[in-house]
Amino acid sequence: MSTRQRVLVTGAGGFIGHHLVKRLKAEGCWVRAVDTKLPEYEASAADEFEVLDLRRYESALLGTRGGIHQVYNLAADMGGIGYITASHAGISHNNVLINAHMLEASRLNGIDRFLFSSSACVYNQGKQSNAKVTALREEDAYPADPEPGYGWEKLFTEELCRYYAQDYKFETRIVRFHNVYGPLGTYEGGKEKAPAAISRKVALAANGGEIEVWGDGEQTRSFMYIDDCVDGLVRLMASDYGDALNLGTDELVTINQLVRMVSKIAGKSLTLRHDLSKPQGVRGRNSDNARLNRILGWEPSLSLESGLEVTYKWIENELHKSGRISKAQFAVA
Ligand code: NAD
Repeated sequence: MSTRQRVLVTGAGGFIGHHLVKRLKAEGCWVRAVDTKLPEYEASAADEFEVLDLRRYESALLGTRGGIHQVYNLAADMGGIGYITASHAGISHNNVLINAHMLEASRLNGIDRFLFSSSACVYNQGKQSNAKVTALREEDAYPADPEPGYGWEKLFTEELCRYYAQDYKFETRIVRFHNVYGPLGTYEGGKEKAPAAISRKVALAANGGEIEVWGDGEQTRSFMYIDDCVDGLVRLMASDYGDALNLGTDELVTINQLVRMVSKIAGKSLTLRHDLSKPQGVRGRNSDNARLNRILGWEPSLSLESGLEVTYKWIENELHKSGRISKAQFAVA
């Protein structure tokens, strides 16, 4: 990418946005970051960081001003399954406003390319009722029956991107992330996803103790390491592909397997206590990467075990720094 590229990353105070800003800076781009909050765990590498609430149209206009070429629109009200199932109205309202305003402001400010971060939550729920799920192809989003609230909003904004492309010849890219994990992501407070939550619980548990797992733990997912995610984003933006594209791995695991992998990294033997009253989302979800391979000639490659090792060690160290675990509780290196 040329040094002349001026790029806006929204949601740059969040997990994926923060990592993406670092990557774009390393490639020589000039980067403006926008979010309602600064990144939690380290300073942003962006040239400019503007604290703006993109639910307001004037903020979207401000954020996209000044000759920006590309917009990665990652800002969203989101969290793990507990969070997104707790507030359908609030989440849908916030995200509809962010995305509608960002699309219109980007068009009016002459942005060349706009990438929308969609989600595997757009997929038809009826196709995810079995733990041994057939991996989801992009066309499996229809007939529409996505996750209530969060998933419906993502699916509608995908359509909105297509309308902008058709009616205004506005260049849009649509990425459907499957679960992303890695260091510098939220690991407590209710917005964390399964790999971070499990890493935290394992780090805090005494060897021989027990940890709580949501559901029976036999629900399945695939998980993508953050470096692969950022790589895929940059590749998709550079491509000519305007329709929705999966971005995830196809390494399917049960949540119980995920817990066992993290426990092994930590060198701990733990008993799993399953809480069936907690939300677990769809029964099975995996990414079919045939289209991703065809379009980008690439797919995420880091194994879950390798990515979890880095992630677990980072969370363990954070808990140590905040005085919540002692050095003696650290994983055997
Ligand atoms: P994140 O919550 O860490 O980051 C989202 C950021 O958006 C946050 O920093 C938040 O403060 C910001 N934001 C929320 N409301 C805003 C507003 N009104 N104005 C400006 N900023 C606002 O989430 P993430 O994991 O980095 O996700 C990035 C994008 O990818 C989101 O669109 C999310 O829906 C999508 N996604 C992520 C995953 C995943 O596994 N992480 C999976 C599917 C889709």
